[in-house]
Amino acid sequence: MNVNLELTDHCNIACRMCSQSLRDEAHGAPHRFMDFDTWRRALDGLRGLRDVTLCPHWLGEPTLHPEFDRFVRHAFEHNANNVLFRHFKVHTNAVLLPPERVETLLDVASAHGLLPDTFLAVHFSIDAFARDTYTLVKGADRREVVFRNLERFLSRRAERGLRRPVVHVAYVVQDGNTGEVAAFVEHWRPRLARPVLTADWPPMDRDAVYLRRWNTGDQARADAIHAEACRAVGLAPVSRPEGAF
Ligand code: SF4
Repeated sequence: MNVNLELTDHCNIACRMCSQSLRDEAHGAPHRFMDFDTWRRALDGLRGLRDVTLCPHWLGEPTLHPEFDRFVRHAFEHNANNVLFRHFKVHTNAVLLPPERVETLLDVASAHGLLPDTFLAVHFSIDAFARDTYTLVKGADRREVVFRNLERFLSRRAERGLRRPVVHVAYVVQDGNTGEVAAFVEHWRPRLARPVLTADWPPMDRDAVYLRRWNTGDQARADAIHAEACRAVGLAPVSRPEGAF
């Protein structure tokens, strides 16, 4: 079972395809950050549940939490023999991924006393290749730092000889970014480890470049844009409705 413990519903950018970026509140209350005691007690509440996949986010950007590293380290330090959660995964826009945070994520992924595939994957929400496109689609001029951060994460994972977490580099095909899908794939595919290129949810045991469908009011048009982008890079588009996280 997926358990989402949302560290924050704040976000530091404003993706055009995300309703999070369009409102001042996400849960009928002002944005906020989880306090440490809530995190500690919530983790404790997982004890005894079976096959939990823990995700420290729902609507916001988890790394924006000022104590993100402390929270993640605490979770893994108290998960000996996987008593709290079987798996862990993170979604991030990679804007806030300094070297120390990269090491935190790689440290917990290689922690002793847990099953080796505990930290499954990091899903990087990127959605653009060129700087102008990134600024348009993501609502912030952060392309350079995001690419640098992700490339550093991949380098450090390789230098430390780790296979986990796997990395999914995601690209929601939408108005404004359809012209650079191939450039995006060509950039990231050689930097990943044995990656698959996929139009559907990526496997949890492989790196992937993930061309994702845009969920929007005109779904037929969004699906057509996605299908065309997939065909442009030799990929068969998916036809079924997209599943949940
Ligand atoms: S980074 Fe995530 S939460 Fe923030 S606006 Fe983009 S999709 Fe929404």
